[in-house]
Amino acid sequence: MELEYDSLYVGGEWIKPASSSEITVVSASTEQVIGHVPEAAEADVDAAVGAARRAFDDPNGWAHWEPSRRAASMERLASALDKRAGEMVQRISSQNGMPVAVATQLEAVFPALLLRYYAGLVKDDTFEENRPGMLGGATLVRREPLGVVGAIVPWNFPQSLAFFKLAPALAAGCTVVLKPASETVLDSYLAAEAIAEAELPAGVVNIVPGGRGMGAYLVSHPQVDKIAFTGSTQAGRSIAETCGRLLRPVTLELGGKSAGIVLDDADLDLSKVAQQMFTATLLNNGQTCFLCTRVLAPRSRYGEIVDIFSGLAGALKVGDPLDASTQIGPMVSERQRQRVEGYIAKGRGEGARITVGGGRPRGLDKGWFVEPTIFADVDNSYTIAQEEIFGPVLSVIPYSDVDEAVSIANASDYGLGGTVWTTDHSRGVEVAKRVQTGSIGINNYLPDPTAPFGGVKSSGLGRELGPEGLAAYLNFKSIYLPVKLQPVRPEPIASGPAAMWAHTEGEF
Ligand code: NAD
Repeated sequence: MELEYDSLYVGGEWIKPASSSEITVVSASTEQVIGHVPEAAEADVDAAVGAARRAFDDPNGWAHWEPSRRAASMERLASALDKRAGEMVQRISSQNGMPVAVATQLEAVFPALLLRYYAGLVKDDTFEENRPGMLGGATLVRREPLGVVGAIVPWNFPQSLAFFKLAPALAAGCTVVLKPASETVLDSYLAAEAIAEAELPAGVVNIVPGGRGMGAYLVSHPQVDKIAFTGSTQAGRSIAETCGRLLRPVTLELGGKSAGIVLDDADLDLSKVAQQMFTATLLNNGQTCFLCTRVLAPRSRYGEIVDIFSGLAGALKVGDPLDASTQIGPMVSERQRQRVEGYIAKGRGEGARITVGGGRPRGLDKGWFVEPTIFADVDNSYTIAQEEIFGPVLSVIPYSDVDEAVSIANASDYGLGGTVWTTDHSRGVEVAKRVQTGSIGINNYLPDPTAPFGGVKSSGLGRELGPEGLAAYLNFKSIYLPVKLQPVRPEPIASGPAAMWAHTEGEF
């Protein structure tokens, strides 16, 4: 059954789009058309930004509500999303090929989890602090919402990544125009229905499905105050250039090529840690930004570790993403499969050895499937070790000692995730401290809502999640309170700053 939508969620209403242009959504596993939605035109983005602007500027509106009132709305939205969790999983997996087991654990859970987390974080917060100063006075330090946020997300985790932005932005008092990726727009309609059911005020969240042109239009829109982007490093650079010119705050979550450092004492018994290894290296068909796609193995155990990863990848069940037992589904699109296959050919050409996979799985004639693939004998300088492939392809790279492992891990343009595998946790933490990255796990990797997430180097700017993710939607304003100013020292010096402050109130 095809899903047909003919309107856009803007200003709290379902409005007719400005043009007749459509986005056709195709299933990654059946290659069949599964829905149509309007493609937002510039006039629609103008309407969405205008609605967000009015909602933000309303003196009695969202930005000025008590945080507890905003938190209650966010909790209602979380409940409205919970009701739609099953349908959300089906839509996401049908569109991008994410196995339903993964979608059920992440996409169906994270958005509501994040809304509740940020609602809890702000509900008793006054967003101001009376801070005693050093010069005899005090300052009222206020945290105020940044304004209208343009949020642009990719197709790989369309709902979680949208709510990485929406939840803290709403908690802060911002209003949002969300642009989903064209590959995954059907889930955004379910989210819009939940937003309407939760009765968020008109214009607080607006959704404009569209491609990169519309994303670029939103980024440079004169009425937008901040951009929050997740996607490729290439697009991130272009967005950063625009935001630099406009001096517009921007958060960028970009690509990755993270290292999984296996220390010589690691226990990689698949009967115990297969799930953790899978999540850290191959989650969501390899289409996850933080994956450790470079496995660094000590030479003393190199053959054994290649065999373990080959065993893990070779045993994965590849197939229909809507089947609950599937572990690897298809690539999101034909273009993405071509890209992954291009890298596999490049790895072969560079002299790396395929131990498992390397082709298309047998018996799956429809859908953009690629076999989980392990490359051994990879040098870190190879293209497959340097560039983000975004498919189920891992490179196992040998190292001689821990110093060399750290230096290989850091010899990358990227710095997003990482894992250290060891039976000695404190040794793992010491190695983790030396890796140039935004986050890293010990014997596991999964971003936690309470901890800042983001990248260094070409993996991005700024942080999402945790209190740091809330701060990314706030301006800090200092109101210096009137005071009877005193010299800062008991014996005033003849000149200099302290003497300058030796006024009394009213002398200014
Ligand atoms: P993409 O950059 O092509 O597109 C991402 C989104 O940005 C889409 O909505 C797209 O329409 C829009 N877009 C593209 N170019 C734009 C531009 N110049 N201006 C404004 N908007 C633009 O990325 P993709 O291929 O859809 O997604 C995969 C990439 O996302 C990978 O590189 C992956 O690593 C990255 N990613 C990063 C994270 C993270 O948190 N660091 C998470 C998930 C995915």
